[in-house]
Amino acid sequence: MNISQRTFWTDSSIVLAWISSPSAQWKTFIAHRVGEIQEITSISEWAHVDTKDNPANIISRGREPQIMLNDSFWWESPNWLQCDSSKWPHINKNQTNFNTDEERRTISLITSEQPKLPFLSRYSTWSRLLRVIALCLRFIYNIAHPNDKKTGPLLPYDLNNAINRVIRFVQSENWSCEISDLRKNGQCSPKSNIFRLRPYLDENNIIRVGGRLKNASQLDQFQKNPMLVPPNSPIVYLIFQDAHDVLLHGGPQIMLAHVRQRFWPINGRNISRKVSSKCVRCFRL
Ligand SMILES: [Zn+2]
Repeated sequence: MNISQRTFWTDSSIVLAWISSPSAQWKTFIAHRVGEIQEITSISEWAHVDTKDNPANIISRGREPQIMLNDSFWWESPNWLQCDSSKWPHINKNQTNFNTDEERRTISLITSEQPKLPFLSRYSTWSRLLRVIALCLRFIYNIAHPNDKKTGPLLPYDLNNAINRVIRFVQSENWSCEISDLRKNGQCSPKSNIFRLRPYLDENNIIRVGGRLKNASQLDQFQKNPMLVPPNSPIVYLIFQDAHDVLLHGGPQIMLAHVRQRFWPINGRNISRKVSSKCVRCFRL
């Protein structure tokens, strides 16, 4: 027999949708079977038949063999199938919008956010980092104020400005929810790991430790209310290394006390010990 045309019927519109799409987008079980069907047939050969016109449904529902013997529908299929193909029911496979989401392959992407200012970790010393940022800030200022350009050596004001920028940046990377709560409610959630420090936002939007050494009148604001520094930031190590150098290789306790005059690093005691233990000169001595 010479077969000039083949037509495959299914009463499942979802199956038609599967066959119409690249097999790779379905889950493994479906993708393998759809791939096999796509290899040996063409989607143009597939057509939809209404469930009531599908004789295969007769046996799936169960029927006595005696009744099957005389069932013309079973033996001859629906009447229209014996007519010219132009009379066959037709649905446009491209316009059907079947719900196939459940069988779609789920692809998970893991993204890791790069620090927005990656150069923070490029500098080997705290003072060099501050100088670079201070010069950048001065450059930006001079562009915006061509008639009031700042020149000459960097002043304490410039370096303080740079410190504020860096601390504000690392705080916003680590405590964005806390900053938002402090702005809205004046306090952060009790679930936050900095709640017990009674943090507050100062006039430069920097989180400072609150309620500590309130009555120590001989201390200035920096010492009473140091800026919070997150433990996982590269700058915290630069700050401790700077203290270690300024104190001529001072030990962990004196380093921590020195750093706390201005900053309050979370987990500071451990970081101080770590920085001290990594110093080659201290190790040799
Ligand atoms: Zn040392």
